Amino acid sequence: MKQFKTESKRILDLMINSIYTNKEIFLRELISNASDAIDKLKFISLTENDVRSNFEINIKVDKDNGQLIIEDNGIGMTEAELEKNLGTVAESGTLAFKKENENSEKELIGQFGVGFYSAFMVADKIEVYSKAYKSDKAYKWESCGAEGYTVTETDKETVGTKIVLTLKKDTDDCRFSEFLESYKITSLIKKYSDYVRYPIKMLVKHSKLKEGLKTDKPEYEDVYELETLNSMVPLWKKQKADVKDEELNEFYKNEFHDYEDPLKSIFAKIEGTLTYDTLLFIPKNAPFDYYSKDYKKGVKLYCNGVMIMEKCEELIPDYFGFIRGIVDSSDLSLNISREILQQNRQVKAIATSLEKKILSELNKMLEEDRENYDKFFNTFGLSIKYGIYSSFGMNKDKLKDLLTFYSGKREKNVTLKEYVKEMQADQQNIFYACGDSYDNIKNLPQIEKAKEKGIEILFFKDNVDEFVAKILNEYDGKVFKNVSDADFNIDSDEEKKDLSFKEESMKDTLSYIKDKLKDKVKDVKLSNKLKTYPVCLTATGDVSIEMEKVLNTLPNADGKIKAEKILEINASHKIADTLQELFNSDKEKLDKYCTVLYEEARLTEGLNIEDVAGFIGAINEIM
Ligand code: ADP
Repeated sequence: MKQFKTESKRILDLMINSIYTNKEIFLRELISNASDAIDKLKFISLTENDVRSNFEINIKVDKDNGQLIIEDNGIGMTEAELEKNLGTVAESGTLAFKKENENSEKELIGQFGVGFYSAFMVADKIEVYSKAYKSDKAYKWESCGAEGYTVTETDKETVGTKIVLTLKKDTDDCRFSEFLESYKITSLIKKYSDYVRYPIKMLVKHSKLKEGLKTDKPEYEDVYELETLNSMVPLWKKQKADVKDEELNEFYKNEFHDYEDPLKSIFAKIEGTLTYDTLLFIPKNAPFDYYSKDYKKGVKLYCNGVMIMEKCEELIPDYFGFIRGIVDSSDLSLNISREILQQNRQVKAIATSLEKKILSELNKMLEEDRENYDKFFNTFGLSIKYGIYSSFGMNKDKLKDLLTFYSGKREKNVTLKEYVKEMQADQQNIFYACGDSYDNIKNLPQIEKAKEKGIEILFFKDNVDEFVAKILNEYDGKVFKNVSDADFNIDSDEEKKDLSFKEESMKDTLSYIKDKLKDKVKDVKLSNKLKTYPVCLTATGDVSIEMEKVLNTLPNADGKIKAEKILEINASHKIADTLQELFNSDKEKLDKYCTVLYEEARLTEGLNIEDVAGFIGAINEIM
C-alpha cells in the first residue's frame, strides 16, 4: 500500500468526512475528466491520422453492489500517470495549502478544484481501471481513502478509463443510494454536463406497453434502452439568446474547477475576416497562486469543436491573465504547435480582437455595474496596475481608464476621470498620498490641512501605485503630485506671503537646525501644510519617501536608496515659537528638540527611528 502525499491526505480527509452539502458535484468532476481525456485522444487521432471514432462516456449502475461506474474511451493513464495524477493533489497547490489550511472546506474546494478526489465525498472505495493509448498493459488504481492506495496490473481490453465507485451507506443526512437512480443521474447530467461534447450514455429503464397482448387490459414491462443523456451542443455554439445565465455559471464551474459562479461572463460570436466563438469569464476570486510566478494564464483553444490546447497563453495579455475561457475558431489548423502559435497570424488577430472585447466589457462594467466592477478591481486591480507599469508603459493608454483609487474625500473608489471632473477650479494636479493602509494614510500630517480645504486626495496603498503614477505622469493634462513632495502646495497667495515673512524672521534658527541635522535632511523649512502636527517630512527629487520604503524592501536592496528629505515645521504651531525662543536662550535644549522632532517626523511617515538611543535620551532629558 502506498501513502498519499501529506497534503493530498489532508484534502482527502476533508473529502471523506465532508460536511459539504453539494456532494453531487463529484459526478460533474468525473465526467469533466473523462471528457478531457477524450479531447486529448481525439486530438491525437486527428493529427496522427489514426482513425478512431465512437468517443463516448458510459454510466452504469450496479445496484446489488451499490456501485456507480463511469467509463470513457479517452486517452487513459499509464501506471506512472495513475501514480502521479491520482496520488497527489494538484502539485502547485501544495505549498499554498500549508498556508491556507485555516480556510473553510468550501474555500478549499473552490481553490483546489479537488476534482477526482471529490468522489470520496460519496464513495468508500474507488477503483480506477485504465489503459493508456499505445500501451499494451492496463493498470488498476484502488483506494479506500486516507490509508493509501495500490496500483496493480489488470485486464482491460480497450483504451480508456473506467472508474468504479462503491458508494457510502445511506445516512440520515445523505441518501447516497440516490446516485444509483437513473432519474437522479439523468438530472445531474442535464444540470452540470449537458454541453459535454461527447455522448454520455446510460441504460435507462422505461415502462412499455407489452405488445401482442390478447386481452384488452394493458400490461406494461420494464425495458432498458441505451440513451444519450446530454444534448452535446457546446455551449458556445448555441445562440446567445438560448443560453441561460445559470448554464453559463455551471459551465464555468465545471470547466474551470471553480466553486463559485463567475463574477462576469462574456459570450461573443465574432464574424468577419476572422471567425470565432468565445466564452470568457472573470472569476470572483483570484486563484491562490494568481500573483505568483507559478500561475499560468491562458484560455482553452478549440478548432472546430476539437480542443487543441488547454492553456493558450498567446491569446491573453498578462494584465488580463485572470480571464478564463474558451476560444473556438475554424480558421486555425489542428496541427498548430506551440512554436508556430507565437507567429501565427490568425492567433495574433484573435488575440487582438479578444483584448479589445475584454477591454470594452470591463469599461462597460465600470459604467453600468459599478458594484461588481469594484469587486473586480479589488481582486484583480493589481494586475491592471502591473499592466500599466510593465513594458515601459506601452499599454498605459488603453488601461488607465480602468484604474480606480480610494478617495479619502468620497470614501470610495474613484476613477481618474471622476477625480478630474470634481477637481477644484484652480487645481492643477492629481494629489495622492502613500502608505501601507488607508488608516495610516488618513493620519498623515499633510492630509489634515488638505482635507480642511476640501481637496480630494487619492490613497495609494499598493506598492505599485506610485510607480503607476510616475509612468502615467499625467491624466487629462493634470500631473500626479504626492502630498509628501516638498513642492506640494495648496496655499493661497495670502498664506504664501505670510509664510515667507515668518520664514525670513526665523532664518537663523532654521539654518541652525539644518546644520544640526546634517545629512539627515536636505533642508529645514516652515510650512503651511500642517494643522495639528508640529512637523512632517517631505521629499524632493525623484525618489519619494514611499519609494524609499518600497525599494528598500526588495531582495537586493542595500539600504542606500534614500529620498532627499525636507523637515517642514508647522508655521502656525506653538513649536515654531518655542524653537525660536530656544535658539536665543538655550541651544543645548534646542539640539534635543531637533533630535526629537526629526525622529517624530520619520515615525509619522512610517519610517523607522534612525537613532533609537539618541531619541530616547533626548526625550528623557527634556522631560
Ligand atoms: P484536474 O482534472 O483538475 O487536473 P483531477 O484530480 O480531477 O484534477 O485529475 C487529476 C489528473 O488525472 C487529470 O489532470 C488527468 O490527467 C488525470 N485523469 C483524471 N481522470 C482521468 C480520466 N478519466 N482519463 C484520463 N486521465 C484522467
